[in-house]
Order: sequence, then C-alpha cells, then structure tokens
Amino acid sequence: MTCKDTRNLLNAYVDGELDSAGSLSVENHVQQCASCLSGMENLRALASLIENGALRFNASRHLKRNVQAAIRAANPGAGSPLFGWRWASALASVVVIVALTWGVTTQWRRSSEETLLFNNIVSSHVRSMMANHITDVSSSDSHTVKPWFGGKLDYSPPAKDLTGQGFRLIGGRLDYLDNRPVAALVYQRSQHFINLFVWPVRTTEITQDGQLSRQGYNIIHWTQSGMTYWLISDLNPAELSECARLLKE
Ligand SMILES: [Zn+2]
Repeated sequence: MTCKDTRNLLNAYVDGELDSAGSLSVENHVQQCASCLSGMENLRALASLIENGALRFNASRHLKRNVQAAIRAANPGAGSPLFGWRWASALASVVVIVALTWGVTTQWRRSSEETLLFNNIVSSHVRSMMANHITDVSSSDSHTVKPWFGGKLDYSPPAKDLTGQGFRLIGGRLDYLDNRPVAALVYQRSQHFINLFVWPVRTTEITQDGQLSRQGYNIIHWTQSGMTYWLISDLNPAELSECARLLKE
C-alpha cells in the first residue's frame, strides 16, 4: 500500500472503522513508514485530546464581565433579580441540549462500533473456514496451544480442553479484531467448528453479556476476569450455550 492510500485510510483506522483487512494493511504500512506512523500518532493524540475535553477552556473573568455588561446594556431588565433567573434558565437549557447531544452521539457511536465488531467477528469466523486456515497451531493439548501464543500477544489466553465434554480443542490461531491482534481458539463438535475469540477488555467496549445471531451464526459474548470472550459457530444455540457454560466454569 502506498503512503497516499494509507493517509486516506488513517482517519477511519484511528476511529476503528476499518475492517480487518484494511486495518492490517494500514498497520503493515506504518511499521515500515515513519512518516505515516507519525501521521497516525498525531491523529491519535488529537482524538484523545477531544475525548478528554482538554480543548475546553474557561472564560477569563475579563471576558465574562464584558459579556455580562453587553447583555445588561441590551436588556432593560438587567440587574433585577428576574434577570438572574432568566440567565440561569437559559444556561440550564444549554446544559440540557449539550447533555442530550453528547448522549445521543455517544450512543450512536457505541452502536455503530458494536455493529462493526459483530460483522468483523462473523467475517473472521467465515474466513477461517474458507481459507482452510482454521488453526496456526493444531493440537488438542492446552499445554501446547497456550504457550504457542506467548510472544505473539501481550496477554495469555486460556486454552481450555473440553474434549471430555464433547467440544474438542483442535488448536489456536492469531486473528485481528477490535483493532488489535487477538487469540482465536478453535473447538469442534461433530462437523461444526467453533471459534472462541479472546482479548483483554477495553474500558470503552461493550461489557454487557449476551447472545445473538448474525447471518446464520450464533454468537455468545461474555467478560470474565478482565477478558472479553466471543464464541461463534453455526452450531445450534443450545449446544453453543453449553460450550460457553463449560468455558466459563
Ligand atoms: Zn507511508
């Protein structure tokens, strides 16, 4: 990918709006290009400034006095107790409007992030089976699978073997979701494959546990001990729930 292509995608990348393939090509490029990397860091810094409200400033006493004097001059009721109330109620409306807008925007942003994540989880699952690349390490031994992730991730995913309970661990794979490399553990039940994606919880992410179905796949999500878990398969909801229950134990 060229610098020009990368620059075009940087904004969407920083906002977490790219799909897995797009994110991966941006990351590959910035690993070799200092100029695009610094462009990305600038965007990130700007985004966090806006998020933390660091760009907000308080009006100086001088400015406040000037504004109040201008209002008083333009308003015959200025100075009376009534004026104080009007001022306060106008301010209250502004506060309410700002709060509503912020709430709606946050809600909208969260729900679009959720939709994107659901879609990416389904694509990762489908791709893992289509590309004949379901595992990078093939083993039903959790003592082989778990250490394989060491050095590839900055956390250690659990690799629970559930062969005895009818869900055979067949291996693990490195995948890319939620703008980061994540662990995918693969289980098999008769001819059905199950992907379990695991990564550490971010503070802003969806923390509500739940179950949903997308494009014919069943998905179960939960968080436990600081990790977020996404279990996906074409297996029926009852058996997938059983698998989730065993994994949570
Ligand atoms: Zn570049």
